[in-house]
Amino acid sequence: MNPKPNIVNLPVYKPGKPIEEVKKELGLNDVIKLASNENPYGSSPSARAAIMAELDHLNLYPDGSAAELTAALADHLGVQSNNIIFGCGSDEIIALIARAFFLPGDETIMADQTFSVYKSNADIEGAISIEVPLVNGTHDLDAMLARITERTKIIWICNPNNPTGTIVPEEALVTFLNAVPAGVMVVLDEAYFEYVTDLSYSNGIKLLESYPNLVVLRTFSKIYGLAALRIGYGVASPTIISLINKVREPFNTTRLAQVGALAALADQEYVQECRRLNSAGIVQLQAEFKRLDLAFFPAHGNFIMVDVRKPADGVFDALLRQGIIVRAGQKLYPTYIRVTVGSAEQNKAFITALEQALQEQGVQV
Ligand SMILES: *Cc1c(COP(=O)(O)O)cnc(C)c1O
Repeated sequence: MNPKPNIVNLPVYKPGKPIEEVKKELGLNDVIKLASNENPYGSSPSARAAIMAELDHLNLYPDGSAAELTAALADHLGVQSNNIIFGCGSDEIIALIARAFFLPGDETIMADQTFSVYKSNADIEGAISIEVPLVNGTHDLDAMLARITERTKIIWICNPNNPTGTIVPEEALVTFLNAVPAGVMVVLDEAYFEYVTDLSYSNGIKLLESYPNLVVLRTFSKIYGLAALRIGYGVASPTIISLINKVREPFNTTRLAQVGALAALADQEYVQECRRLNSAGIVQLQAEFKRLDLAFFPAHGNFIMVDVRKPADGVFDALLRQGIIVRAGQKLYPTYIRVTVGSAEQNKAFITALEQALQEQGVQV
């Protein structure tokens, strides 16, 4: 068998450890997962009800174009239906963009520590990833501009950036977009958009009219609490959307995902409540990190990158033994862990476990 040479050495994505696996391995009853930026409060009760009602139609294929959901989302965002494409998570939109646009040898620019799915999909298509160092955990937009060549096809901006949690302010983003050649696509990944409260943050959807080369990605997996359903979307010009649509599988989102997302979208009160609780959780965790004298990046999503001052893997294991799953293994930040903002109670349990873990690792706290 002859696979594409560019995929032979690709790593397989390592997700956060599943709760059930940790319970079994360590014989623990209570495990708190703060590893995958999932919503600790679950999803809107109306999403659950809509899914229950849809269970009578499991024999039917979904509407491949997700027309009803698309119309509702267009209305919510203030765009047209032909500006929107749904995917099996926004992960799939990233893959579809790569599939539709990259030829082997094309160049694509991204931060050196950002969402790994951009690079893995570029690798699969044989495109060359130009990884530009973050500065203080933040995208260096000028340095990214300086790396544009004739071969550059797509630039990825993760805002807030996963895993650091930092944002690029609107002013810097607009200056950047003005300088990017019209033929280079900019993908602005706003998976955590609904969580951001900082006034300098931009709304990518509002920028679409001025920048026809812009694609904005969002998802129902994070604040909407529907990660299990796998549904996310891209918003862009009708031209770009119709190109991405050509490489989309006919039934890439399920009936359950479509009705769940539709109901969740209608419950904006729930979204606002999650946003409020998350902000309070950030304040809570940051105060504790200060008390423990641990440095962290300013958090704008539902997760925080904190410097545990020892190899992160050791602290990860020490937390795991106490039933707390976080994320270590950020290649450029070997002493940092990424922790999802949980409920107040989960955050408290995490901090107690963290103090214990740090003591075990010989950190003075
Ligand atoms: C979680 C996440 C996504 C995608 O999530 P889906 O579940 O595939 O919609 C995309 N980008 C970033 C930066 C994320 O953190």
